[in-house]
Amino acid sequence: MGEVIRRFGGGIVSLGRSAGGLRELAPTQHALIGGVFMGTYLGLEWLTRVHELQALGITLWNPAKALSLGLLLLKGIAYAPMLFLAALLVDLFIYGAAKSVTSTVATSMAVALGYAVLAAGLKRGLGVALGRSDLRNVIAVLVTVPAGTFVIACVYCGLLILFGDMPAERYWEAVRHLWVGDTVGIIILLPVAMAVFGSVQRLLDTKSTALVIDSMVFLAGVLIALWLIFSIEGAHEYHFFYLLFLPVSWIAMRAGFAGAAIGVSVAHLLLVAFINWGGYPASTFMGYQFLVLALALNGLLLGAVVDERRSSDELLREQHAEVVRVTRHATAGAMGVSLAHQISQPLSNVAMYLHVGRQLLADRPAEPVPIAELLEKAAGQLRHAKDILERLRDFVSRGALRPARTDLGALARKVVALAEDDARTHGVLVRFEAAPVPPVTVDALQLEQALINVINNAVDAAAEARRLPGCVNVRMAAVDKGVRIEIEDNGPGVSDVVAKNLFEPFITTKPSGMGLGLALSRELISAHGGTIDWERMRPDGGARFTIELPLSSEVGYGA
Ligand code: ADP
Repeated sequence: MGEVIRRFGGGIVSLGRSAGGLRELAPTQHALIGGVFMGTYLGLEWLTRVHELQALGITLWNPAKALSLGLLLLKGIAYAPMLFLAALLVDLFIYGAAKSVTSTVATSMAVALGYAVLAAGLKRGLGVALGRSDLRNVIAVLVTVPAGTFVIACVYCGLLILFGDMPAERYWEAVRHLWVGDTVGIIILLPVAMAVFGSVQRLLDTKSTALVIDSMVFLAGVLIALWLIFSIEGAHEYHFFYLLFLPVSWIAMRAGFAGAAIGVSVAHLLLVAFINWGGYPASTFMGYQFLVLALALNGLLLGAVVDERRSSDELLREQHAEVVRVTRHATAGAMGVSLAHQISQPLSNVAMYLHVGRQLLADRPAEPVPIAELLEKAAGQLRHAKDILERLRDFVSRGALRPARTDLGALARKVVALAEDDARTHGVLVRFEAAPVPPVTVDALQLEQALINVINNAVDAAAEARRLPGCVNVRMAAVDKGVRIEIEDNGPGVSDVVAKNLFEPFITTKPSGMGLGLALSRELISAHGGTIDWERMRPDGGARFTIELPLSSEVGYGA
């Protein structure tokens, strides 16, 4: 069987590129496929000749029909004549030419035509392909195959009556017999081919130890269930059949559609072996075949649903990874643009100072003072560029936190004092009111950086205050299990353009701003288990930033 599938698999590759299929293969290849198919078909019919109805070639288990449908789905309905020939040979050599010649030809034609129509309907109408075992495909097969085999069984048995091979009153009995045999044969075996050509790769990708353990557990489950079904004295024949649903459902959940397809066929083979061993009559076998059909539908659908779920999980993971990748790209891009923008100004200033200095050196080499002044200015611009690079580095590499018990009042007073100098030159008054607060465990340097950013922003904003004088109020107080710091200014307020994304990196309205201050502050504060937020003071301006820090918390960067 493995050999047959591999040959067919090779065919897929060569046929995949053509619509016609038959045209691309050499006649010897067609003959080989046909020979292998017919040999396997006859072998399967011979092996599964169980509970034949009145020597009419109608049995209760017909996996050869799965082979036929598989061939037509894989190679196209141009192979239907081979099916006709195979059915004819089976009637002649396996079932002993029990029917009349016309009946044998007519029923073989009905089989070939019926399966060609079924395969065409599945393939062209419903888009079913052997390599695809998504839920839609599986449902299409599980619904269409029983319906198609029923119609074929009706026509087949009608022909038997027409040609006098069977009395009319046995019509429905024969239809039921044929339908059960064909349907179970296909529903058990075709999914194995669907898995082999498609989702089995997913199964092979799983860890081999897990695969072996799953298979052992499944086999043990099936054997225990079968032993219970057939060994308990006095129990009704089908009493414990439901136990088989447990290992089949389990393997479907563990190994998806491919696992379910293989599991169902293994369970069925073992069941048939037990039935044969027990020597049960045809009616019991038919009952089991019906139950096996329910078992297969349950297992295959569950397996397909599990695969579908796993695929959508994978898709979600891929989409998430893609979003992360795109965001990283966007951030890197924004960083690059911002950096180029920020660095180009001081660098061109340096170039300009050096150029003027060189000219001065050429024109007035005896006067070093203006040249020294220019060099000093150039050095100042380089310091500025270095500062920008350091700000960016601080943002990107946050470094490890070094938490220690810290007097926040003293820390804030120091930051306010630093800001006051700059504020004074812009005519801004900075006021600081601090109630006594308990010591907190923070990285003083990093928290200082966060406070400087927020207070500098407030000074910048207050410098543009319409109602002079500009002023900034910094307040600190103890709150429930923490400390709150408020930084309030009477500037024009946060512009609507940036308000929505205020704490995102690279958001700025300042000509020389990098838009990293608030983003960095938020990172630093949340690394201390704290929060930072803002609100408008009045409709016409003013902003209040509120920082809250817990007295003690796990200090560290989350991601
Ligand atoms: P930068 O100061 O480099 O622009 P920030 O992240 O510190 O970067 O600030 C981002 C933007 O938020 C500023 O450009 C400004 O528009 C706005 N902003 C921050 N603080 C205030 C404030 N107190 N009042 C008004 N706008 C503010």
